[in-house]
Amino acid sequence: APQERLDRLFSRLGYGSRSELREWLRAGRVSVGSRPVGSPSLRVDPKLVQIDGQPLDHPEGLYLLYHKPRGKVCAHGEPRSVYGDFPTAWSVRRPAINTVGRLDADTSGVLLVTDDGGWLHRWTHPRRAVPRTYRVGLAEPITDGALAQLRSGKLLLAGETSPCLPADVEVLAPRHLRLTLREGRYHEVRRMLAALGNRVDTLHREAFGPFRVDDLPSGSWRLLDPHEASLP
Ligand code: URA
Repeated sequence: APQERLDRLFSRLGYGSRSELREWLRAGRVSVGSRPVGSPSLRVDPKLVQIDGQPLDHPEGLYLLYHKPRGKVCAHGEPRSVYGDFPTAWSVRRPAINTVGRLDADTSGVLLVTDDGGWLHRWTHPRRAVPRTYRVGLAEPITDGALAQLRSGKLLLAGETSPCLPADVEVLAPRHLRLTLREGRYHEVRRMLAALGNRVDTLHREAFGPFRVDDLPSGSWRLLDPHEASLP
């Protein structure tokens, strides 16, 4: 098992200062595999450490599925930040938690959240082309020409030089699409429809890769289970 210095472990998980750790050690509150420990420099397996008999708060990393509501922004330190929906204790952990990609303030739906940079990269890397499925409400009925453009792999966004990858499009109603993209550009869905003379009124991400939030109320999150977090 990976070993880590006790003092480093405590500070990266945001439990407190070195002097606070020394207090806890003196008071016998910290144990490893049920044996009390006294030295802050001891190298330990994080999963075996307990404070007052309780395991540490996800020392192996955080992997979450979050149902982003409309009206929240994917930025740290903003008044309407999505990070306000997670336990405040996590705001002092290092590395910090981050969303896997971003959704616009007005967009709802599936968002992964993690403190594991390698895992984040694995789900956002363009080469993996992870499918992102959106339900799109439009201001104007979709035209056959626009559908052909969305599917063509030739649609060019304002100010860009490489065309959008071909999208899968299902027409649910004249003003309602299910759209699957395999890349994540800034405001991509809104800009694709704008390039076709239409406008996105409502946008919800139904799926990101294998992840969906159908059973998760808006604004809530759950931990991924180890199987989900280790999907290839
Ligand atoms: N495309 C957008 O325009 N907005 C999002 O939030 C996601 C994809």
